[in-house]
Amino acid sequence: MLKLRNIQSFYGNIQALKKVSLDVEEGEIITLIGANGAGKSTTLMTLCGIVPARHGTITFEGQDITSMAPEKIVALGISQVPEGRRIFPYLSVTENLNMGSFLRSDTHNIKKDMDHIFELFPILAERRNQPGGTLSGGEQQMLAISRALMSKPKLLLLDEPSLGLAPLITKRIFEIIRRINQESGTTILLVEQNANLALKVANRAYVMETGTITMTDTGKNLLANEDVKKAYLGI
Ligand code: ATP
Repeated sequence: MLKLRNIQSFYGNIQALKKVSLDVEEGEIITLIGANGAGKSTTLMTLCGIVPARHGTITFEGQDITSMAPEKIVALGISQVPEGRRIFPYLSVTENLNMGSFLRSDTHNIKKDMDHIFELFPILAERRNQPGGTLSGGEQQMLAISRALMSKPKLLLLDEPSLGLAPLITKRIFEIIRRINQESGTTILLVEQNANLALKVANRAYVMETGTITMTDTGKNLLANEDVKKAYLGI
């Protein structure tokens, strides 16, 4: 579904991605783990067109999207939940969700999809008229994921969904991630510092260090890998 080949990205003269190649197949949950500054967020931002790739190619469903504008990439079915969530604080929960469906032409299905989201996240239904900025951190993360889902993405990109959340809420978010994947077949590419949970939920994973992929395997094998245990699982 998605192929990155030898991607190099820069911030000015600073090279953040050196040669990143990875594949995501339809229906998979793929995780990218790595230390702070390894280039995980930059990988997501490059593939959705926010940071330009200076070298290499990105294809999505066979189409070259390497130099495509971000809004065109969204229209193809790639939606990102950025790090730090970035919901609209002064808009209500419902208005935030409507922003996610902005590019859709099948307006008659939007209400049904919103009801489905309220089923996934009952707390959002309870707070549907409340400004997004008054929600707790966990609820804002649920809203950010839901807003992305309202665009009916084929590929959902999640950047650090557990950031700043209590362990119980994080667990709940990961259960929902698995459910979204299983129920609607949405393909998910997930960037996480919480390697333990991320590897448990992932079919396959990539380990990143200083702008390159250093290891790839199934989530299960990486959880059992001695180097991964030492470096990322604190064991
Ligand atoms: P974290 O988990 O801390 O977000 P990360 O693996 O997502 O880390 P990136 O945010 O992709 O890492 O950063 C990769 C490299 O690019 C780092 O060295 C970082 O300092 C640098 N970088 C990121 N954003 C910028 C920016 N806007 N300007 C300059 N350098 C940047």
